[in-house]
This record gives sequence, structure tokens and C-alpha cells, in this order.
Amino acid sequence: MPEIKIDIKSPEFIRLPRVQKVLTACLQCGYCIDVCEAHNQTPWESVTPRGKIYYVKQLDVSGVGAMDALLGREVTLSPEFVDAMYKCTGCGNCEVVCHAKIHLVDFWEDMRAWIVKNGAGPLSAHKGMAEKVRKYHNPYGESPAKRDAWWPADVERAKVPDVIFFAGCTGSYRMQHIAQAGVTVLSRAGVKMNCLGEKEWCCSSPLIRTGNHDASLGCAETVVEKADGMGAKDMVMTCSGCYKTVSSDFGKYYSKVGQNVYHFSQYVEQLINDRKLPLNNEFNHKVTYHDPCHLGRHSGVYDSPRNVIKKIKGIEFVEMERSRENSRCCGAGGGYKSQFNDFATAVAVERIHDAEETGADVLITCCPFCVLNLTQGAKKCGSSIKVMDLSQVLLEVTAPKQAEPKPAE
Ligand code: SF4
Ligand code: SF4
Repeated sequence: MPEIKIDIKSPEFIRLPRVQKVLTACLQCGYCIDVCEAHNQTPWESVTPRGKIYYVKQLDVSGVGAMDALLGREVTLSPEFVDAMYKCTGCGNCEVVCHAKIHLVDFWEDMRAWIVKNGAGPLSAHKGMAEKVRKYHNPYGESPAKRDAWWPADVERAKVPDVIFFAGCTGSYRMQHIAQAGVTVLSRAGVKMNCLGEKEWCCSSPLIRTGNHDASLGCAETVVEKADGMGAKDMVMTCSGCYKTVSSDFGKYYSKVGQNVYHFSQYVEQLINDRKLPLNNEFNHKVTYHDPCHLGRHSGVYDSPRNVIKKIKGIEFVEMERSRENSRCCGAGGGYKSQFNDFATAVAVERIHDAEETGADVLITCCPFCVLNLTQGAKKCGSSIKVMDLSQVLLEVTAPKQAEPKPAE
């Protein structure tokens, strides 16, 4: 762990933001502990939501000095504390069970932003990501010129689109088949689409989640300017992280896009209800559904993916014991995967076991980053369950019906 020298009594030290309400509200009851996947991987009290709040409380009163002097202790912005603050996927499970109704997801992000302002964070992988976003506009360090290389050759790019399809960095560079599936399915309903091409910069989610807001400046502005210049009414994305960021964080930190923002599952549900998207084929599998944290707990979109799944013929749908607001995180969010990949994969293994308990042979979710991590989890534990994005399932289900072979004369 790198040595961080932060003198909290120095005039340079930036005092805590206005979090005293949270610090006072916390009952220290510990109901948040068992649901915390980061704590399950690193079972120290300092990693639990309760432990972190307790430490911040001590940081808040330190400098007054009396208690610290009396106890002969030094409460400081130590590397261990910073490490604990980043051992968190930002899943929001703690917030759901918190009896004091503390907005913990916002709190963790505010605390990380404060750590970064004091020069004590983010962690090494997050710094690397931020540098790549600054240089290449994506956290993978891939060429901006190849941003839209995934666009399927057989789908027309409308000059004046109705919909802007926002693929996101993972959809553009690592899980292109999900972006391709999304666009192809929408095109089958006659949706006129285009994407932002090279101007689709990172939505900034990896930077906001790790407290690195300054590094994200410019991303949102570029996206908003380009999107608003295209004359589209709607924006659709298959990535749940991009969805939360563009529909919620853009308005909080930057400017809003002028389009109505939909997650793919919401848009497709409407297309099916309007009888614009024919579900031609059966999908004969027992399936269960994993709620991405950014789509479910953070954005309240629980029903659209389920409604779509239940409309598909041949599917036997079963819920996992932990679902909707109590869903277990896949382990990938909040910069946790980039910094603590082994822990993130271990959380995914737990989620795969949840899915296996239902007897399902397909695990559907609604986010390329969840698909990526859950697939790695399935591989790690040797599970035969197939992890699919909803767009991939619909790609099969909406494929044109093959003509029945003529009976032999
Ligand atoms: S957001 Fe999730 S990982 Fe982070 S402290 Fe809460 S329960 Fe733990
Ligand atoms: S459940 Fe809420 S009030 Fe209780 S310890 Fe956790 S954060 Fe504090």
C-alpha cells in the first residue's frame, strides 16, 4: 500500500464536506454488515459501512484533540482507511437495509471525492483509468477512431435519427456483441438510429464512482453537445452504468442531454407493447434475472426487464432468492473490479451460485459489465450456466422466422 502523508492538522487539509447529518444519523446498529459483498470478501470491521462511518466520525472530531490526546491515538487519513473506502462496489445494498435511511451510495461517493481532493486517492488502477479517459476518452486506452467500429454493417445509420444508441466504453471496446445485438433488435422494429461516433466519450461513471470528478470534465459536455446536435428525440443504452450516469448524474454534475433517456429494456418493452417488435421465436430455457445495481436499486428499473422476459414464448422464469432491491451485486461496480479483480470475481461466483440454486440454465441481465464479470465468475467456479444480456436473448427471439420447409410431394 503506498504511503500517504496527510497531516489532518495542516491548513492545507480540506475538512470534511457537510456529512455530519450522516455521521449523527448512523445508529451503529450493523444491519448493513451482512449484505455487504466487499465485507464478505475482506471480513474486517473497517470495511463495513458501519466501520467506515465510525472512522469518518472520528476524523470529523479529530483536530479538536481532546479525545485523541486522552486515548493516546492518532486518527488520520491513513492508507488503510483509504483502501477500506475503496473496498466497496457502490452496490447500495447497505442503503436498502439501513434503518436510519442514510443515502449511503451518495455518501461513499462524496467521501471518495473528498479523499481525492486531499490527494490521498484514488487508487492506482483508478488513476490509470482516469489518465486513459483523459487521453483516449475511454478507460481501456483504446483508439477513439475505433469507437463505433462495432456498428453492424447491415444496420443503416440514419442522418436524422429518432434514437441515439449510446454503446458505452464496455459495449464499444470489450463487449461489442451486446451493442450489436441492441442495435440490431431495435432496427427490427424499424427504429431510425445513429450513434455519436468518435464523440461518444466515456459517460464518466468510472470517474464519478471513484471520486475523480475533475478528470471527467469534458466528457459529459462533449456527449451533450454532439447528442443535442443530432436532432434525436430519444437516447437508448444497453449499459446500466451509462444509463444511471446519463439519466441521473449528468443533471447533478454537468448539463443534461436534451433527449429522453431510456434503458434498452424500457424502450424494448414499449416497442413490444406497441406491437412494433415481433417476438418470432421461442427461447426454450429456464431463466433467472440478475438486477444490475445501477439499473435496479439506483434507478428503480425492476419491472421492464422482467416484463420483456415474461413475454418471450418458451421461457420458464424463476426469481433468485435475492432479487430486485435485495439483489446481490455482481461485484464489478464502483471501481472495485479494476482495483480488486480477484475479489470482484469471487463476488460474481456467489451470484452464479444464487442463480444455480434456482435450477436455471440461463442467467439474463441488462448490463455488459455485469455480463463480463458474471461470465468470469461462472468460468471461475466451473458453472455451465449461460450468462446473457437481454439484448442477446432478443436477438435470437426477434430473428426473422425461417420459412417452413415444403412437405415432400
Ligand atoms: S455500497 Fe455495497 S459494497 Fe459498498 S458498503 Fe454498501 S453494501 Fe458494501
Ligand atoms: S444500517 Fe445504517 S444506521 Fe445501521 S450501522 Fe449501517 S449505516 Fe449505520
